[in-house]
Amino acid sequence: MSLKSIANYINGERLPPIANDYLDTINPATNEKITTLPNSNKYDLDLAINAAKKAIPIWQAMPMSERASYLLAIAKLIKKHKDTLAELECIDTGKPLQTTQSVDIPRAAENFEFFAKCANSDFSKVYDMQDKGINFTQQKSLGIVACISPWNLPLYLFTWKIAPALLMGNCVIAKPSEVTPLTADYLAKLCIEADLPAGVLNILHGKGNKIGQAIIEHKDIKAISFTGGTETGKHIAQSAAKDLKKVSLELGGKNASIIFADCDFEKMLATTIKSSFSNQGQICLCTSRLYIENSIYEQFKNSFVAAAADLIVGDPYNQETTQGAVVSELHYNKILSHIEQAKAEGAVVLLGGEVKKVPGRCKHGFFVKPTILENLKTDSKTNQTEIFGPVVSLIPFNSENEAIVEANNSTYGLCSVVWTQDINRAHRVSRKLDTGIVWVNQWMLRDLRTPFGGQKHSGVGREGGKYALEFFSETTNICIGF
Ligand code: NDP
Repeated sequence: MSLKSIANYINGERLPPIANDYLDTINPATNEKITTLPNSNKYDLDLAINAAKKAIPIWQAMPMSERASYLLAIAKLIKKHKDTLAELECIDTGKPLQTTQSVDIPRAAENFEFFAKCANSDFSKVYDMQDKGINFTQQKSLGIVACISPWNLPLYLFTWKIAPALLMGNCVIAKPSEVTPLTADYLAKLCIEADLPAGVLNILHGKGNKIGQAIIEHKDIKAISFTGGTETGKHIAQSAAKDLKKVSLELGGKNASIIFADCDFEKMLATTIKSSFSNQGQICLCTSRLYIENSIYEQFKNSFVAAAADLIVGDPYNQETTQGAVVSELHYNKILSHIEQAKAEGAVVLLGGEVKKVPGRCKHGFFVKPTILENLKTDSKTNQTEIFGPVVSLIPFNSENEAIVEANNSTYGLCSVVWTQDINRAHRVSRKLDTGIVWVNQWMLRDLRTPFGGQKHSGVGREGGKYALEFFSETTNICIGF
């Protein structure tokens, strides 16, 4: 696929960067250049902010149901163009085409549909003071907000932020990752086709430390919704604190799965393969620390290694491929250095632990074999650091209490998974885990109404349903005295 250069989307138009400065975007499965993207600067941001300022009165005054109809129109266009979007996401990320077709792009459409339906929500609350007066609350838009997203699920996470922000009457300055800009650019084309009013959504491409930094510092940005790494999240929180901007931070994870001997073994095994290696392990919710009850440790180890060995690492275009490339050369080298560190810490490599050479058009691509380690303690560097790749560590445990303590021994707290058929144990354990999300006998079963987010260094705030709508609005209490 040869592509024209990506453009910024400002004031309803796709525009080149003012400085005419461009970056390259690379297909990580082939290590070939796909196209160029704007290396935007603060002058591009000024244009976008001015456009958003002009659009605010129109967008805020529009009934929510009408704003929702734009979201539905965009969802419809995403579905119409799903094949193109899936291919763009595939070449930009290196993940299998069948994943972008079945997960990334359908979810992007669903995000717009889901939040469009939220227009029917009962936003106002009433607090009756009987003969003295009555209070009611109102959710007002914030003004201009920033949505900054990472490269692992590009359109999926980008739209997860933009849709609720728009529904609540905000104008948005959005920045996708410079590593994966293609589908955000295509979304701009769809917004133009949907006649989204000019300036309501503005998409700026470029580097995090340049245009991203300019966005988070801009005085007219009232809130920042960010998904990405913990260090970037801390930096954004510090910067936002200067102007008391609202922040929602969805950050890294080092998620534990606790596997008790009484689990449904076959279901657990199939799901644990997915929770460990889906998207090459590049999902914030992936489980990278597997705690296994001692009595089934050997059985689990043998079955898990055999099942992971059956995963097919290869050309993302092949329909049988389950594992594509990791997202970039930089990330590939980072994953490999973590594997070397694990070996230096005494890890036994049960599977993988090295690159995968894929012949043909992918011979220069960045592929890592699914990697399974054992013999590392919870407090080893490997088990404390987010690797964000296809690398998992197996750790045996003897008691329920030990498993809980070990799983909680992490600076992160995004999600955890518990495998048991004992309902009392399921309740007991899940309540004691210090994570924002706990799945029992499941992984990544998502209801978009539920609160999504992490504790500790995995983030601040919650996305999803009413939590996102509250974040992207200001609550006013109106008290009428009698
Ligand atoms: P980064 O933190 O490097 O980047 C995320 C986004 O922030 C990118 O768009 C990046 O731009 C931008 N950015 C970087 N620096 C700044 C800055 N100073 N100001 C404003 N924006 C900036 O994360 P990755 O893209 O590497 O994503 C991987 C991380 O995301 C992992 O830690 C993963 O766990 C986390 N994640 C968390 C999720 C959650 O819901 N909790 C979900 C998915 C991922 P650029 O790309 O140009 O550098």
